[in-house]
Amino acid sequence: MSTSAIVEARSIVKTYDTGAVRVDALRGVDLTLERGEMAAIMGPSGCGKTTLLNCLSGLDAVDAGEVVIEGTSLGEMSDRERTDYRARHMGFVFQFYNLMPVLTAVENVELPLLLARVGAKPARQKALDALELVGIADRAGHVPDALSGGERQRVTIARSLVNDPAIVWADEPTGDLDSENAQEIVALMRRLNVERGLSFLIVTHDIAVGRKTDRIIRMLDGVVVEEQQLEVPHVLAGHAA
Ligand code: ADP
Ligand code: MG
Repeated sequence: MSTSAIVEARSIVKTYDTGAVRVDALRGVDLTLERGEMAAIMGPSGCGKTTLLNCLSGLDAVDAGEVVIEGTSLGEMSDRERTDYRARHMGFVFQFYNLMPVLTAVENVELPLLLARVGAKPARQKALDALELVGIADRAGHVPDALSGGERQRVTIARSLVNDPAIVWADEPTGDLDSENAQEIVALMRRLNVERGLSFLIVTHDIAVGRKTDRIIRMLDGVVVEEQQLEVPHVLAGHAA
């Protein structure tokens, strides 16, 4: 195994069997994400991108093959360990924000910390710091409905960062945004990647977003069909293995 890999998938297979239909969503995917790398997964609707992210992050179990994250096999962890691991080491960003509509921006961002039993005061401070980091500290008191799409996605990114994760999974994070806002969001992710050594795996339909990453991984019909290296990953010196 590559010593600098943060995520390594080996021949992973995922089949959905709902009784009436059987869908081979992943048919043997091999993929390595280096520590400090920012990569894009592209491919047509239904080719298995979301399934792949869910399997890599341990939200979903694979039927065959293995996922190794930071040297630990997800399959060897108990459900509880996997859940804890996700809460402590991973961040998630989705297309439709998944923000609680009745909570303000800062309350949404601090929620994962409160759930992880961080005290109210330090949680609030960390949430405000994260909002500052993504450039919307001035919107801390607004509910999601009072924010633009780009601002909402920044709140989601701030929330994904509060637990200081090693990797952030993003499923179509710019799918609901216009091209200008999409570019701002990918630029923000790049800044976090460079400044904090955060690894990103971003599912996107937008080639303009894909081109801003280090590598485009193309999927078709449940397999990786092509990989295109665009940049050398911005690995922080201190993070290099
Ligand atoms: P993508 O994100 O690339 O659009 P998905 O990973 O969502 O693709 O889906 C891959 C395939 O698996 C599709 O054919 C989809 O219909 C199917 N699929 C996804 N989730 C489920 C599920 N929970 N039950 C059954 N089939 C599913
Ligand atoms: Mg999807």
